[in-house]
Amino acid sequence: MDFALTPEQQTFRTEIREFLAKEVPSDSVLEDGWITGYSPEFSRKLGARGWIGLTWPQKYGGQAKSYLDRLVLTEELLRAGAPVAAHWLGDRQVGPALLAYGSEEQKAEILPRVTRGEIVFCLGMSEPGAGSDLASLRTKAVEEGDHFSITGQKIWTSFAHVADYAYLVARTDPDAPKHKGISEFLIDMKLPGVTVRPLVDLTGEHHFNEVFLDNVRVPKRWLIGEKNRGWYQIASQLDYERSGIERLLSNYPVFRDTVKYAQETGLAKDPLVRNQLAQLQIELEMGRFLVYKVAWMLSQGGVPNYEAAMAKCFCTEVEQRIAQTVSSLLGDYAVLLPGSPAARLAGRAAREYLYAPAYTIQGGTSNVLRNIMAIRGLGLQAG
Ligand SMILES: Cc1cc2nc3c(=O)[nH]c(=O)nc-3n(C[C@H](O)[C@H](O)[C@H](O)COP(=O)(O)OP(=O)(O)OC[C@H]3O[C@@H](n4cnc5c(N)ncnc54)[C@H](O)[C@@H]3O)c2cc1C
Repeated sequence: MDFALTPEQQTFRTEIREFLAKEVPSDSVLEDGWITGYSPEFSRKLGARGWIGLTWPQKYGGQAKSYLDRLVLTEELLRAGAPVAAHWLGDRQVGPALLAYGSEEQKAEILPRVTRGEIVFCLGMSEPGAGSDLASLRTKAVEEGDHFSITGQKIWTSFAHVADYAYLVARTDPDAPKHKGISEFLIDMKLPGVTVRPLVDLTGEHHFNEVFLDNVRVPKRWLIGEKNRGWYQIASQLDYERSGIERLLSNYPVFRDTVKYAQETGLAKDPLVRNQLAQLQIELEMGRFLVYKVAWMLSQGGVPNYEAAMAKCFCTEVEQRIAQTVSSLLGDYAVLLPGSPAARLAGRAAREYLYAPAYTIQGGTSNVLRNIMAIRGLGLQAG
């Protein structure tokens, strides 16, 4: 097996590295750049280079490149800790969903703006009583003349406070079996009846929200795909959500900087420390292969399902081990607020320690992913 990039991909990677060396100062956004690094300006710069919607058809503003090319790009962005949150969901998930199920009018209106970095999306899936069991969702969309009237509550909605549109799932047939009466919509967040309330996470940061919908009148043209077939559309969307390299490299910058710190201070002379850091480096490489496998399957027209679950499950657990290891290596410093360079690194490690539980929850919990691997990968039956 040859894991080398093609000469074109290597040239592309060099171009990206040169751009990032200029555009991302090493002490600006670092960990979780795809979640907390909200910078519409940076997204527009990427858009101007054609680096959003890289795999999409050219008629919608894309570059018609392969999923492996996109992975070369996203890997470099995340390794550098670039602030990519403003376009991440549109590029990763909403765009591909529209390409697969959207009407021609929806694609023409939305996709070119996404590729220019002009639109921010949020994903309105989870509800207070429907997370892992998403099909239990209760937000309802009732057809009334030329629109749907949507009422309900969403929770943990990342970026809802800054989003232009929500990609939202709602129940359109309350009498159908629970997986069959669901539809997907694109909702303008400025519509009357949409209220966003912030939720602050354990680190003290705010990136997710509660969203309340009170008789929000959504024109019918914003129904995505077929009415009541939303569940089947969501399934493929979740594969995109779960399989990217952001499930491995969210906290890569703090790992990289801790290795450097350990080398510079002599900490790395301790064989136990060397062993811990080497182990993580090996796991990062293994995770990378799983993610590359998914991208390779996508580029062959395949449908990675349990493969995406495997990648997310393994990779997010590596991210958690990174958080635990860096905060324990930096010892007492890890409780200090940022100040000196060492304390700043320790502050980042402490933040990671608090944030890391989210990695194995957001986008599907590890338990649920193990069920997918068991049922769809190994062919086991639920008892
Ligand atoms: C940082 C962050 C960002 C998020 N952003 C968004 C967003 O933008 N949009 C959005 O819609 N949602 C978002 N979520 C929500 C996320 O998708 C849900 O939290 C997740 O799907 C789990 O649902 P839940 O929280 O309701 O937990 P539950 O489903 O109640 O699960 C609780 C526990 O039970 C376990 N469990 C549940 N079912 C099973 C089963 N069948 N077998 C074995 N174990 C099971 C779970 O693994 C978990 O340990 C975000 C979450 C986080 C943490």
